[in-house]
Order: sequence, then C-alpha cells, then structure tokens
Amino acid sequence: HTEEQWRPFNKTRVYMSDLESALHYSLRVELASHSIISGEDLTALRRYISVLDKYFPGRPPVKNALKAVNDWLQKQEGTSINYSDFRAALNTRSTDSYLPKVERWVGCQGSKQHFRGYPCAMWTLFHTLTVQALETKSRDPQEVLQAMRRYVSSFFGCRPCAVHFEDMALESMNRVISLRFAVLWLWSHHNQVNARLAGELSEDPHFPKVQWPPPDLCPACHSLKPSGEHTWVQEEVLSFLKNYYSAQHLLHDFLS
Ligand code: FAD
Repeated sequence: HTEEQWRPFNKTRVYMSDLESALHYSLRVELASHSIISGEDLTALRRYISVLDKYFPGRPPVKNALKAVNDWLQKQEGTSINYSDFRAALNTRSTDSYLPKVERWVGCQGSKQHFRGYPCAMWTLFHTLTVQALETKSRDPQEVLQAMRRYVSSFFGCRPCAVHFEDMALESMNRVISLRFAVLWLWSHHNQVNARLAGELSEDPHFPKVQWPPPDLCPACHSLKPSGEHTWVQEEVLSFLKNYYSAQHLLHDFLS
C-alpha cells in the first residue's frame, strides 16, 4: 500500500526511494499478474533485468539482489517460467542482498492517490538508466531503450500508454546510434507525451505537464531563434540530464 502522509521534497532532485519503489512495484506487483511468463514476454523480462543489473545505480545490497535475480533468470533454460519461482528468486534475501518491499513515492508523490507514483517513477528509472549507460560507456546505444520498449509492451499496466509508446518507438528508436542520442531520444519523446497529456484529466493539478526542463531548472537549455521561435539547446539539455539523473546526484532520503 502507499503510505499516506505527505513527504516534503526537493523538486529539482531525483530520489532513490522513487527508483527502488519502481523496482518493487514493477517486479512484485505489475509482473505478478502474469502467472506464467513465456515467449516475447520472457525475452522482455530478461532484457529488463539485465539492464537493471548493469545500470541501476543502487545501494550495494540492491545491486547484489539485481545481480542474483539476473543470474537466476539467465540460468532458466526452458521456454517459460512461473512467476512464483521468479518471486522466490526476488525475495531471497541476506544482509547484503535484498530488494526493499516498499512503495514510497517522494519526488513522484501525487496530490491525490491516483496521481503520479509508479508511471512517474518508471520514466525516472529509464532516464536514469540511459544516463548510466552513457556514463559507463555501454557498447550498445539501444540496449536500455529497447529494454524499456519491450518491458512496456509486455507488462506496463497502462495499455493505452504501451500502444502510444510502441508507436513512437517504431517510428524512430532504430535511428538511435549513440548513447548520447539515447538519452536525448527518451527526453524528447517524454516531452512529446507531456505535450499530448497537458490539460488531460490524468494530469495532477499540482504537477502540470510542461516541456521539460523548464527555464527555471535549466535556463541555458532554452533559446530563441531570430524569428522569435523557441528552440532547445541540445548540448545544454544533454549536460543537464547527465547531471540531473546521475548516480552521484541522487538523494537517499526516506529510504528504509
Ligand atoms: P511524468 O511525465 O511521469 O515525469 C516524471 C518526472 O520526470 C517529472 O516529474 C520530471 O521531473 C521528469 N521529466 C518530465 N519530463 C521529462 C523529460 N522530457 N525528460 C526527462 N525528464 C522529464 N499517461 C497517459 O495518460 N497516456 C499515455 O499515453 C501515457 N503514456 C505513457 C508512456 C510511458 C512509457 C510511461 C512511463 C508513462 C505514460 N503515461 C501516460 C503516464 C504519464 O506520462 C505520466 O507518467 C503520469 O501522468 C504522471 O505524470 P507526472 O506529472 O508525474 O510526470
């Protein structure tokens, strides 16, 4: 369950509590509705866990737990797995290896129960992973984006979201040829989603959808063409994202 009390937070920072809560929710709640996982869904799960193992900038025990789950999953040779076995692997814990069982939204808190939370944290998680892939000089520029695409397509509970995301992926994801481009691809497509959803009923009135980062967060990201039209300064956006979503910049408040 989501804890009810409001946690004051810094709107200019990313919270580890949101990232760990996203892991908990996706692995223990969202996946749990699939009692048997096979075919493309199993591939999607393997890719997702593999990028989490490689790039999740977690606390040591959380990283150890993700590694253990990835090792377990890679060892499964059949064409399907039971969710109950996966859950058992997930819940195997020791003092230096565990995935916290807690849903505690901080930067992703909504002004009401049904706002924000998990979908907000999924965006946050994947932005963080694209930045980590860049920082660690991953070999495959599309690895994180394709893992996100497959996860969303197979498991993301909001099915209209999955359909929209697949449309965007189909149109341009295969043109991503560098790790920097991958970070910017996710940023620009998230902004497309923000533009589409601005003013909709799903929007939390306390967190209006804006083209992000707004000028108060990153003045240098914005510029005007001679015609007066707004334009993004992509190099500045990239350095902003690299800092905003970097492992060193994450806040560890509110963790249990
Ligand atoms: P979110 O959009 O969730 O963003 C989370 C945080 O990321 C923001 O608070 C901000 O700090 C940061 N951020 C915002 N924009 C950017 C950016 N461009 N680049 C980097 N960081 C940014 N909802 C629908 O109703 N219809 C849909 O079709 C839909 N599709 C979705 C597809 C995916 C893949 C996901 C993960 C979610 C989707 N959602 C959809 C949910 C929706 O996008 C929001 O997550 C939700 O409405 C909560 O919004 P939010 O205000 O918390 O901000």
